Amino acid sequence: MTQPSHPEIREAVRKLCAGFPGEYWRALDRERTYPTRFVKTLTEAGFLSVLIPEEYGGSGLGLSAATAVLEEIHRSGCNGGACHAQMYTMGTVLKHGSAAQKAEYLPKIASGEIRLQAFGVTEPTAGTDTTRISTFARREGDKYIVNGQKIWISRAEHSDLMVLLVRTTAREDAARPADGMSVLLVDMREAVGNGLTIRPIRTMLNHATTELFFDNLEVPASNLVGEEGKGFRYILDGMNAERILIASECIGDGRFFIDRSSAYAKERNVFGRAIGENQGVQFPIARNYVQLSAAALAVDHAAALFDAGQPCGTEANMAKMLASEASWAAADTCIQTHGGFGFAEEYDIERKFRETRLYQVAPISTNLILSHVGTHVLGMPKSF
Ligand SMILES: Cc1cc2nc3c(=O)[nH]c(=O)nc-3n(C[C@H](O)[C@H](O)[C@H](O)COP(=O)(O)OP(=O)(O)OC[C@H]3O[C@@H](n4cnc5c(N)ncnc54)[C@H](O)[C@@H]3O)c2cc1C
Repeated sequence: MTQPSHPEIREAVRKLCAGFPGEYWRALDRERTYPTRFVKTLTEAGFLSVLIPEEYGGSGLGLSAATAVLEEIHRSGCNGGACHAQMYTMGTVLKHGSAAQKAEYLPKIASGEIRLQAFGVTEPTAGTDTTRISTFARREGDKYIVNGQKIWISRAEHSDLMVLLVRTTAREDAARPADGMSVLLVDMREAVGNGLTIRPIRTMLNHATTELFFDNLEVPASNLVGEEGKGFRYILDGMNAERILIASECIGDGRFFIDRSSAYAKERNVFGRAIGENQGVQFPIARNYVQLSAAALAVDHAAALFDAGQPCGTEANMAKMLASEASWAAADTCIQTHGGFGFAEEYDIERKFRETRLYQVAPISTNLILSHVGTHVLGMPKSF
C-alpha cells in the first residue's frame, strides 16, 4: 500500500481535530451554527494558507498538501466545508489579480485577518448553465452598479470579501456565450445593507449557505479582477483546485466511514459471533476500501498535475466523481453495518452521511462530469 503524503501535516491536523470531537459538531448541527472556534484554530495553525505563496505570508506548499489537510479533517469526523474556500478562492486573485490587489489582500488572507471564502457563481434560473447568469454589473465612472440574484452562496455571512461572477455584457451581445462575464471582489463589510441582502437557506446539512440579492450595489471599478469580459475563464481555472480539494474531503469522509464500519463489525456480537465474520457484512466494507483507495489515487494524480502547472480539468472532474461516489457508498455501508445505531445522532454517522451526500451535486453534479468526459474526452456529440 502506498504511504499517505505529508505525514507531518496529517499528524498535526489529527491532533488539532482531536480537540473538536463529535459533541462539538452535533451541537452546531442541531442549531445550524458556524464552527467559529474550529475555523479560528485552523487559521491560527496556518492550515488555511498552505496555497498562498511565502512572499505573501502563506506556506506555499501546493495543492497536494492542502488535500492532506482536508482529508484528515474529514477522516477525524470534522468538516472543512465551513472554511475550505478560504484556501482556494484567493487563487483567482493570485492568478489574475493586479499587483496592488495581491499586495493588499493576500497577506491579510494568509494571516486570517481577511476571510475570502465566498464564491458567488450559481443563480436560481441559470443552474449549471453558467453562461446564462444574469446578475449584471453596469460601469458608471469609477464604479460598477450590480443588480441580480445568486443562490447557494456558502459562507457569505462569514466572509469579508466575495469573488463574484457577473455579466458586464449581455449574453446576446457577446461574441460567444462564455464572453462578457467579469469577476468582481465585493467587500461584504461595506456591501451588506448597502445594496446587498443575504438570506440564509436552511439545508439538510450545516453548511452556512445563502441566497444573495443585489439591488444597485456599488463596487469600485478597482475591484475588477483581471480584464473585463474574461471572468468565466478565470473562474474555470479556480474550479479545478476546488474539485480536487472537495474530492480529498470525500476521501476523508470515506475513510471515516470505513474506520467506523470495520471497527464496529469486529466488536458487535450477534448470534454469538462478530457481525464482521459474516461476509454479507464484511465484503461491502472491503469493497468500499477498494473503491476508495482507487479514488484516492485519482485525487493524488489530479493534485500532482495541478501542482506541476499542467492541464488537469478532466482529472479533477474524474477524481471528484470517483471520490464522491466512493464516500457515499461507504456512508451507506456504514449505516447498514451499524443497524439501528447508525441512525442515532450520538454516533455521528447519520450526520456525516448527510454531509457527504452533498458532493455528488456540488460543486458540480455527476451528470455534468459524465457529459464532460463523454464529449470532451471521448468526442461523442453534446446533447445541450
Ligand atoms: C449546500 C450547497 C452549497 C453550495 N455552495 C455554492 C457556493 O458557495 N457558490 C456557488 O456558486 N454555488 C454553490 N452551490 C451550487 C452548486 O454548485 C449547484 O447546486 C450545482 O452545481 C448544481 O447546480 P443546480 O443546483 O443549479 O442544478 P441544475 O443545473 O438545476 O441541475 C439539476 C440536476 O439536473 C442535472 N442536469 C442539468 N442539466 C443536465 C444535462 N444537460 N444533462 C444531464 N443532466 C443534467 C444535474 O446534473 C442535476 O443533477 C452550492 C450548492 C449547495 C447545495
